Amino acid sequence: MAQHDIPAEQIEQFEAEFHGDLIRSDGADYDDARAVWNGKIDKRPALIARCRGVGDVVSAVNFTREHELLLAVRGGGHNVAGTAVCDDGLVIDLSEMRSVRVDPNTRTAWVQAGATWADVDRETQAFGLATPGGVVSETGVAGLTLGGGIGHLRCKYGLTCDNLASVDVVTAGGEYLTASEDENVELFWGIRGGGGNFGIVTGFEFDLHPVGPEVVMCLVFYPGDRMAECLRAYREYVAAAPPEVSTLTLSGVMPDEERFPADAVDETKIAIAGCYAGSVEDGERVLMPLREIAEPIADFSGTMPYVEVQQLFDEDYPDGMRYYWKSLYLDDLSESAIDRITYWTDVAPSPLSTVDVWQLGGAIARVDAEESAFAGRHAPFLLGVEANWERPENDDANVEWVRDCLDDMRQFSDGSVYLNFPGFLEEGDDMMRATFGPTYERLVVLKDEYDPTNLFELNQNITPSGSAQADGRAYHE
Ligand code: FAD
Repeated sequence: MAQHDIPAEQIEQFEAEFHGDLIRSDGADYDDARAVWNGKIDKRPALIARCRGVGDVVSAVNFTREHELLLAVRGGGHNVAGTAVCDDGLVIDLSEMRSVRVDPNTRTAWVQAGATWADVDRETQAFGLATPGGVVSETGVAGLTLGGGIGHLRCKYGLTCDNLASVDVVTAGGEYLTASEDENVELFWGIRGGGGNFGIVTGFEFDLHPVGPEVVMCLVFYPGDRMAECLRAYREYVAAAPPEVSTLTLSGVMPDEERFPADAVDETKIAIAGCYAGSVEDGERVLMPLREIAEPIADFSGTMPYVEVQQLFDEDYPDGMRYYWKSLYLDDLSESAIDRITYWTDVAPSPLSTVDVWQLGGAIARVDAEESAFAGRHAPFLLGVEANWERPENDDANVEWVRDCLDDMRQFSDGSVYLNFPGFLEEGDDMMRATFGPTYERLVVLKDEYDPTNLFELNQNITPSGSAQADGRAYHE
């Protein structure tokens, strides 16, 4: 439904009680407000409700429900599928709710739902503490946490959602409640990995751990003709690595004239990147073998503030460029899988694209699969296929490359995916069932209880049992 379908006096009535900004399509800041990180996404919502607090979120949920509007929820606006915005409907935009409060005595942080990881790291590191976030600090806490959350501390301290102590939620009915191990226990189970399906989280309470302030980071680049050898050595290394080590490999051209010698700028490379969540002395020693696999093109490893580690990749993912990412949990990093990763890296249409292998296991695998909805604890590796490019005329080639690569790599996987790297929402229900397996039915029961009419539809959707199959209707390209 478009804005003009709602009587003007009802919008005005809503606006009168709303403390934040209600941005209409003729507003001066409309284009800025509807833009998300992925420049490929060009959605035109009827209204953007930029909330100041929980009261605003409750009003906006009630208004959306009463007028049967399509609803999008925006945390940090970094979902690659662009689910933070929609055509015609209403966006509940939380980007101005980003305060962070740390209690160093209980090692706890309270984080509002529009915060980014930069906001959280800044406050927690003031006390030498951290909770596992993502590897790009501009990413939103909300979307990342609800989908799981894999970052530089994952093998030592687990997923981001494993470090949640409680959440405050506004439900589809406009009710405000808290979920934790002690209250609304099933909702707390589902929110940790089930995404934005069950309500709007307005606040997150995280457990914190002593980290830094200085840690050792590995960031070493090897030539593309050594890629298979590097991936083999990497596989052997992580199999024996202590849980303090959380690393990934990135394969692609990654051209950067300032970073690389001239003869390597336009050539394929493999990077090994990651952090040691322990003492600097141990970190230097333990990460050293990753830096000695072959003669590097460049080695930027070293000791640095944890906050800097968290921001190291920020400039590689600028706002407004075009992106299409997908993922697949790998059963193993077999010889054949390595061979195919090398192939798909070589045929990438954009030099900015990468094929990534994330090390999993450690603390992620130690949490019982039943403890939260997150699906993917079983896998030793996550494959991320990231098409990153600049010009719209190259859209088709890049999207096709990701899809073809994924189709091929499925032979090394049970078909489950990491829901925070979703491409567009084209696979719908099948992808969700493949990812959650038998857990999917438990999620449907929870969805039926908290959102039977699928108000929270624009996400990696759990379809309530009473509705037709969700198809991510606003997103199909
Ligand atoms: P948004 O686009 O704002 O929101 C995404 C979806 O989350 C919304 O559509 C909605 O369904 C839901 N949502 C958002 N806020 C709320 C809320 N308050 N309540 C309920 N539902 C809500 N992931 C990792 O795990 N590790 C990484 O290291 C990592 N790195 C990344 C780097 C970049 C550059 C990018 C773009 C993404 C990265 N991701 C990573 C993926 C990231 O987890 C997802 O893109 C995530 O959706 C981003 O969250 P957001 O709040 O910024 O997204």
